[in-house]
This record gives sequence, C-alpha cells and structure tokens, in this order.
Amino acid sequence: MTVRVYNFSAGPATMPLEVLERAQSELLDWRGSGMSVMEMSHRSKEFVSIAAEAEARLRSLLGVPDDYAVLFLQGGATGQFAAVPLNLTPAGASAAYVSTGSWSKKAIAEGRKYLDVQVVADEKASNYATVPAEGSLEVPEGAAYLHYTLNETIGGVEFPYVPQVDVPLVTDASSTILSRPLDVSKFGVIYAGAQKNLGPAGLTLVVVRKDLLGQARPETPSVLDWSAMAEADSMLNTPPTLAWYLVGLVLEWVEQQGGLESMAERNRAKAELLYGAIDASDFYSNPVAPAARSWMNVPFLVPDPALEKPFVAQAAEAGLSGLGGHRSVGGMRASLYNAMPLEGVQALVDFMTDFEKQNG
Ligand SMILES: *Cc1c(COP(=O)(O)O)cnc(C)c1O
Repeated sequence: MTVRVYNFSAGPATMPLEVLERAQSELLDWRGSGMSVMEMSHRSKEFVSIAAEAEARLRSLLGVPDDYAVLFLQGGATGQFAAVPLNLTPAGASAAYVSTGSWSKKAIAEGRKYLDVQVVADEKASNYATVPAEGSLEVPEGAAYLHYTLNETIGGVEFPYVPQVDVPLVTDASSTILSRPLDVSKFGVIYAGAQKNLGPAGLTLVVVRKDLLGQARPETPSVLDWSAMAEADSMLNTPPTLAWYLVGLVLEWVEQQGGLESMAERNRAKAELLYGAIDASDFYSNPVAPAARSWMNVPFLVPDPALEKPFVAQAAEAGLSGLGGHRSVGGMRASLYNAMPLEGVQALVDFMTDFEKQNG
C-alpha cells in the first residue's frame, strides 16, 4: 500500500495527489498515443498540443494579457537571475534591486556580473523580517528596471503589495506564483521555477511584456534569450517535456479547485491556522513582521536550538516531512504550497501542540 506523508518541503515540493494519479494512469500510454509523454518528440502534434494547452491554462488562470509572452524555459530561477539583465539591458547599464533576503541577494550577486546593481532598499536592519514600506521605493535615474523577490522562500517574507515604479517591474515569483491572484499588467517580467507551486523541477516560467523583447545582448546564450525563445514557442532546443506536461496537469487541477481566488482563500486559511498557533504559544516563534508574513513558507523557532533536531525527527515519524529550516538559517520551516491541504496544516499544528507539552 502506498503511504503518503504530508510533505512540507520548500522545493521540490508536494504535488496534488490527483495529478500524480492522473500522470500514473497516463504514464505508459498517453491518451491512445501508444507512448509515454517522456518518449514523444517535442515536435509531435501530441506534445505540441500538451504544450499549447498548458500555456492556455496558465494564461487564463493568471489572467495574462495578450501583450505578454509566456515562456517555458530551463535553468531555474537562477538562470533568470542572469537572463534578466542580459535580456533587458545593454552592457554598462544599471538596474535597481530590492534586497529582502537570501534569494534577493543571489539575484543581486548574479546581476552584478552584468550590470551596475543599485540596491535601493535593503531590509538588513530588521534581519530581513520586513519588506520596504509601500511607496518608499525610489528608482535612481537611468536604472533600466526594478527587481524584487515577491516571496522570500527561506526568510518567509512576502510582499503584500506590488511596488509602483516608472521602470519595468521584474519579480522572482518562484515560491508564490498561483498562490493567489496577481495583476500581471503591473509587471514587465515575472519568472518562477516550477518546483514550488507549479509542478516538478526542470521547468522555469517566464511571463514577459512583449515590448521588452528584442533587446538581448548579442552574447546572451540562446537558451536564455527570451525573444529567440518566444519566436520558437520555447522550443529553440528540446524543452523539459515531462515537466511541461506535469505543470499542465497541475494547472488543470488548480482550475478544478476554482482558480486563484479559491486557492487564495485556502492558502490564507492554512497560513492563519499555522501563524495563529505560533503566535498563541510562548514556545514557538516567527520573526517576520505580520504584514509581510509569507502564506507559502513559514519559518519558526523553538526556544532551544537543541530541540530542533528532535522536532524534525519526531515530526517525520508522525508523517510530517520536510520541516527542517534551510541549511543557511536552521530552525524549522513549513511550506504550505497550493497542494498542501488544510488537514496537513492541522496535523502539523496538532503535532506542535503535543511537542510543546512534552518539551515546554
Ligand atoms: C527556489 C527559488 C529559487 C531558485 O530556483 P532554482 O530553480 O533552484 O534556480 C530562486 N528564487 C526563489 C524565490 C526560490 O524560491
């Protein structure tokens, strides 16, 4: 018998059981084709239909306007840290970046290879427990775009608002895309690795306003060149076909759940349950400013770091997996992506209550 645990891993992360079962049922023979999706030519009419359907679903769910291209790439969000400056600026340019934690810092470090990065806000003073106040971001003269991390997966900090600036807004939405509605029209570029909320690892989503295409530096690798990829329907080279198909199934599942409004309601309820339990206890704590708390990644601490290992180990025995904090920060972290049901969060809260009774 298959035993499934509640998987709180930050990524690769839990996927909807219905999606895995559907993929299993189609694994050997995709809809009468006599072959698995992973055996199909990416140029076959079968795969081209799978690819187009996934794009259409994403456009409809996220409300992507027609003047945006949707790309399915490889190289992860990390690849996009380089692709963003390479596609949006000429050599010698500058761009503005907001630093709200680990992933921002990685984007900034990679950006510095290609341009003059101007850090316009750095939440260091709060130990990355906050986001800049709404309306406070000033973009310096000459900056080509503003980059920020919509949700910091490690620190558990999420922007509750979309910054308003006069330059194209670029965001890393890896760990929060599809968790709630997002007004795509406010952005120049949205990118996200798939392995948090969209499906398995291997695929990277890029949504880019079409007027920003066509400016890639000549040395931009073709696989990171948004215009070249847009012209080739993201098939300039062999795409990650199986991941693309699975993302399509996840998108169909999100539709069946009622779309992003309904995901948002569920995600808010999950986050409120867990933060509520943390705040009601003197044993657990979460350092993030309430307004900037992530709905997707909830880091928390116990009073004595020596209790962290036992917490994670005993939770795993109770069928609650992946609760160790990121190796860079320690503590615990529960990721509550779309595929995590409320019952999983309730089981975690029940476990936390028991653990506190035994160790508090
Ligand atoms: C996971 C993650 C990344 C890195 O994604 P890769 O696919 O490993 O490159 C970047 N940014 C954020 C916000 C993430 O959550």
